[in-house]
Amino acid sequence: APNQTVDVHDLLDATLAMFNSKIKPGVRVVREYDRSLPAIPVYAAELNQVWTNLVDNALYAIGESGVLTVRTGRKDDRVVVEVADTGPGIPADVRSRIFEPFFTTKPIGDGTGLGLDISYRIVVNKHHGDIRVDSEPGRTSFRVSLPIAGPQP
Ligand code: ADP
Ligand code: MG
Repeated sequence: APNQTVDVHDLLDATLAMFNSKIKPGVRVVREYDRSLPAIPVYAAELNQVWTNLVDNALYAIGESGVLTVRTGRKDDRVVVEVADTGPGIPADVRSRIFEPFFTTKPIGDGTGLGLDISYRIVVNKHHGDIRVDSEPGRTSFRVSLPIAGPQP
């Protein structure tokens, strides 16, 4: 069972704080938090891996300048976290493979191709949530939804 009941904003802020020194001057981080969201039962360390990977991917995609938006909200019985960037977007042929283990388009040393595979397993298998990508040229967004009641047996 989950090990903590948390406000997802605390986890997101902790992740963003870790990246603080790596955020380039031309990159703006926008937080659009719905502060009315309830705390939810999660595996906190694992979920932080998800935010870390999504933010890492977004900052990589943005490069020197652009906007990283972290947005939260509620949809029915789920908390929704969206990590969006103004990077180049994900071409359709790449998009169909991004959740595969070891799939990466990055040069050796920049990526292992495991981030989204691990993220998928943490969100879907461990939290009974959902992770979806939506992308077009100039914009990518990953949306994670997590059951407010926690994963049900
Ligand atoms: P890695 O970051 O090590 O490459 P991931 O599993 O995190 O592995 O991502 C797999 C691939 O998905 C990336 O190499 C990239 O091609 C694509 N991708 C993921 N996030 C984004 C994003 N925000 N914008 C553009 N492409 C992305
Ligand atoms: Mg990654």
